[in-house]
Amino acid sequence: MSEHPETDIAANLDLVRGTIARAAAAAGRDPASVTLVAVAKTHGADAVARALAAGQRVFGENRVQEAKAKFPDLRAARPDLELHLIGPLQTNKVKDAVALFDVIQTLDRPKLAKALAEEIGRSGRRPRLCIQVNTGAEPQKAGIPPADLPAFLGFCRDECGLAVEGLMCIPPQDEEPALHFALLADLAKRHGLPVVSMGMSGDFETAVRFGATHVRVGTAIFGARPPLPT
Ligand SMILES: *Cc1c(COP(=O)(O)O)cnc(C)c1O
Repeated sequence: MSEHPETDIAANLDLVRGTIARAAAAAGRDPASVTLVAVAKTHGADAVARALAAGQRVFGENRVQEAKAKFPDLRAARPDLELHLIGPLQTNKVKDAVALFDVIQTLDRPKLAKALAEEIGRSGRRPRLCIQVNTGAEPQKAGIPPADLPAFLGFCRDECGLAVEGLMCIPPQDEEPALHFALLADLAKRHGLPVVSMGMSGDFETAVRFGATHVRVGTAIFGARPPLPT
């Protein structure tokens, strides 16, 4: 866990919130209709505590183990904290994920839908669920291809009894994100799903213009992350 004591998290949060509010207003949307998910991955509990002190309540993590090490104490101190899983979920971590997260944004395959349904039935805990959509149909990327979404939604609802509330995407790195944001928002609308999770530090302003209800912002709040171990 790296720490960035020089990063002014409160000031960064103000800037990001201001950008969201302006982008929402410009698009004729209520700024309150956009939830800022502060992505704390690789940053320690101290950084999350500083964001909490600045009024932030919704956080994202992309790894179950890291979240499990970081959040239980913070949540005990702040019961209104809301935690989103935004990274890939392996079926052997489903039990921990259902226990820990309020929202799982990365439902991306039938096997995972079945495992989640089983654990939700067993535990009685009901995290809200979003389906990750591979809007760029990239072979190496997780997510349901747009063409398969209707069938997968049907599978989740009818075979697994899961209530899906929205969609999330991570656009291809080398493409104009607006096209992917427009596609995701359109898919959500067509299927009557209220949650649209899209936009990161580099493009959340665009995502808000295209209808994001949740933006996932890490670097612009907490500062740069150390490079991923290879
Ligand atoms: C890391 C991550 C983010 C945040 O990325 P930044 O560019 O640091 O804002 C958003 N979404 C997902 C799925 C991520 O893994």
